[in-house]
Amino acid sequence: GLDGAWARAWLETSAAVVAEHRVELITLDRAIGDGDHGENLDRGFQAALAKAGDLAPDTTPADVLKLIATTLISTVGGAAGPLFGTAYLKAAGAVAGSDDLDADAVVTLLTAARDGIVLRGKAEPGDKTMIDAWTPAVDAAAAARDAGAGPAAVLVAAAAAAEGGAIATDPLVARKGRASYLGERAIGHRDPGAASTALLLRAAADVAG
Ligand code: ADP
Ligand code: MG
Ligand code: MG
Repeated sequence: GLDGAWARAWLETSAAVVAEHRVELITLDRAIGDGDHGENLDRGFQAALAKAGDLAPDTTPADVLKLIATTLISTVGGAAGPLFGTAYLKAAGAVAGSDDLDADAVVTLLTAARDGIVLRGKAEPGDKTMIDAWTPAVDAAAAARDAGAGPAAVLVAAAAAAEGGAIATDPLVARKGRASYLGERAIGHRDPGAASTALLLRAAADVAG
């Protein structure tokens, strides 16, 4: 099941994957932003990883998500720190008290994360932001749950949809964040926050099996 050990593994794998893709995320952000996205996220997840030892052995998913949230909020600047921080904080609140997440809880977690980002950043689908990865992920997760998928399969569906959503930002003009200053020059470049969202959701699915 998706218990505290799963959430801890998600954190560990997220930190590893973000470190592995650090340069790629920097390159994406250099094209349409200020080039710090990979650096920002890597710093945040390494800091969260360093605090993982403080978690109780019987930690819940919500405890782990809250640790990630507070660490990202305090160590990652820019747009993505507060946005991802809010996402993890809302996700933690949505599954608080649950020791083992079922398919419904996974949908609840992802929906709360997405809604938190929207509340904070006011982006709409198609604005070429991380919302363009989160929203298809939420929709695919709900569809998989409705079709009877278990929690791990719901995450696999969400990760695949996030990857598709990130790729689908390529032809878009940005209406939020730094990339919006570029107008048509943002066309042909992938949104870094959508790309990192896909990496994080893939990590969640990979450790759920
Ligand atoms: P900064 O732009 O401050 O340097 P980052 O480079 O860490 O911050 O993050 C940039 C990413 O943040 C973008 O690729 C985009 O996905 C996301 N982003 C920026 N503004 C918003 C917003 N208002 N709503 C949702 N996501 C946003
Ligand atoms: Mg940046
Ligand atoms: Mg910046």
